[in-house]
Amino acid sequence: MLTKLLSRETCAKCRLCCIFDRYDVWETPVLDQEIRQKAEALIPGVEFISKGRESYLFRVRELDENDLFTCPLLDPAKGCMLGTEKPFDCRIWPFRIMDVAGRQAITIAPICDAMMQQPIGTLLQFLKEELADYIFEYADFHPDVVQPYDDLYPILLWKPQQI
Ligand code: SF4
Repeated sequence: MLTKLLSRETCAKCRLCCIFDRYDVWETPVLDQEIRQKAEALIPGVEFISKGRESYLFRVRELDENDLFTCPLLDPAKGCMLGTEKPFDCRIWPFRIMDVAGRQAITIAPICDAMMQQPIGTLLQFLKEELADYIFEYADFHPDVVQPYDDLYPILLWKPQQI
């Protein structure tokens, strides 16, 4: 979805978005029922917690010896086991949708070096032309994906006000 801005090779070399520390473990992807079922079939014994009314997160019981939690769907050799059928959060990452004092905005995760090196105008143009409508519409139907605002995440684009 973001291949105009981020090459698959760049993402494959990094995988930072699939590994979480104690400060960004809230970033683990929000899973819908269908993806939860796929994950259950792929990873025997995997556990979930509920998020909102009809979404789930992987249960994080403990961090590893490096103080990290790796998404259970990440295959170290092959990448994401879901292939192109990734959760919404992973399809739009490093963009995020957040609730900023009652209004939704698209923000960007500052740990993605490859995207943070892009000119702001390029990011905005891409959002406006390719992705913002999809993100806001998806969030209308799946409000569990909207995260509380984290002020480390620069705000790029506000949801248009309804008149
Ligand atoms: S679902 Fe796939 S892309 Fe998303 S965090 Fe897990 S391994 Fe990474």
